[in-house]
Amino acid sequence: MPAQPTPPVPNRDTVTTIRSDGSRLFLHPADTRGRFTAARRLSAFALIGLYLALPWIKIGGYPAVFLDVAERRFHFFGWILAAQDLWLLFFLLTGVGFSLFFVTALLGRVWCGWACPQTVFLEHVYRRVERWIEGDAQERRALDAAPFEGEKVSKRLFKHAVFILLSAIITNLLLAYFVSIPRLWSMISAAPGEHWGAFLFVAFFTAALYFNFAWFREQLCIVICPYGRLQSALIDDHSLVIGYDVTRGEPRGKLNTPGAGHCVDCNRCVQVCPTGVDIRQGLQMECVGCTACIDACDDVMDKLKRPRGLIRYDSLNGFAGKVTRWLRPRTFVYFGLFLVGAGVSIWALSTIQPGSLGVTRMQGAPYYVDGAYVRNQFMVRLINKRNEPALFKVTLVQAPAGALASGLAEAIEIGPLGEELHPLVVQIPRSVYTGNACLVLRLTDLNGRCDISKEIEFVGPSAALLKEDEAAERSDRNHDHEP
Ligand code: SF4
Ligand code: SF4
Repeated sequence: MPAQPTPPVPNRDTVTTIRSDGSRLFLHPADTRGRFTAARRLSAFALIGLYLALPWIKIGGYPAVFLDVAERRFHFFGWILAAQDLWLLFFLLTGVGFSLFFVTALLGRVWCGWACPQTVFLEHVYRRVERWIEGDAQERRALDAAPFEGEKVSKRLFKHAVFILLSAIITNLLLAYFVSIPRLWSMISAAPGEHWGAFLFVAFFTAALYFNFAWFREQLCIVICPYGRLQSALIDDHSLVIGYDVTRGEPRGKLNTPGAGHCVDCNRCVQVCPTGVDIRQGLQMECVGCTACIDACDDVMDKLKRPRGLIRYDSLNGFAGKVTRWLRPRTFVYFGLFLVGAGVSIWALSTIQPGSLGVTRMQGAPYYVDGAYVRNQFMVRLINKRNEPALFKVTLVQAPAGALASGLAEAIEIGPLGEELHPLVVQIPRSVYTGNACLVLRLTDLNGRCDISKEIEFVGPSAALLKEDEAAERSDRNHDHEP
């Protein structure tokens, strides 16, 4: 049998999960119990519950979060955004991005350890299933080393079948955010050929989730996640991190060894780490802030009747016995940028109109000169963003004197979330025409909740050219009447 490459000993220069020959070392972190494990489990179940519940919770007749791509409507807790409102996303995402910067500068990788979907689903769903089927870390390692037969085959088949089922459930729920639960249910009940797009979406994401949670796991945090890379630039010596108290723990030594620190070198903190880090070597990029090593070490300290907190949440300055400053320039800057993003988002959300007005020029020539008028033809697109019918009115509020607008009814009724196209013809008498002009259309609704103005340009020949044409036409007429 070929010799197995030796598993790397955690160190700061290499990634523990990569062996010396470049092959992957599949980790089996040991179980932990403790206050942080319990709190993280609670928060994970709350987040998973929220993910499961949001498509079912109705606000104003629609799911609380419903990204209705087919209808180009986005429902967020009662707000209805049309495709035209998507510029808001820029400010929303900017606000969220800077809030993450701010939280990271203060609290390090608290997002990764407590709220990231990768951690939440991996640690609290997939690994739990794995433990339930294959046993604790020691039993799983023994199963890895066993020949592929008998119990190993049945356990592995069962585990991967459950993983595929879980991945399919998570993906179908994700799809529900785009199509709603009733539509999802009708898709599930119908043959795949009736909705190939949705079927391929589910098949692709199920496969991707299964690959990620069954095999790729911590590699996503270590080699792919951009936030993981970015966080080293966002934190400083005052940020809260999970670390090891070198002053108290070193030199390591067995219990009752004269002169030894509090670390008894039991290696429990390394055995429980899901990314293979030895936190005693200092803060490392692979650490996702999962708190497992805190609980593991606290448990050891309890047994040894030593104070907890040899591994704990603290700043690097705190570990070095210096003062931790929460308020510092970078937290002010990130908070300021977060306020700008959040402020603009709130302002923009408060100004969202319940209707939308779009105007495009009709196909064909940009203008027509016939009879006594210069004519432009437009197509007006009206959208009712509300869940109830609405009566809209479109008026031409700014135009050259004498201009005539036709094609728009006095009041236009549009059904819930409906959309209508109406032609609009604007004519300016030649006698008052002076060239291109700015027109302003105004959309109002009869409840007084909608008031949108839109500028459009009336185009035509230059006034001089029009006069020359008129003179030529007059001359032609005179010639026609000559005997
Ligand atoms: S769990 Fe605590 S005592 Fe054990 S090796 Fe880690 S730091 Fe030392
Ligand atoms: S070092 Fe500790 S906190 Fe960081 S990933 Fe490992 S177990 Fe989690």
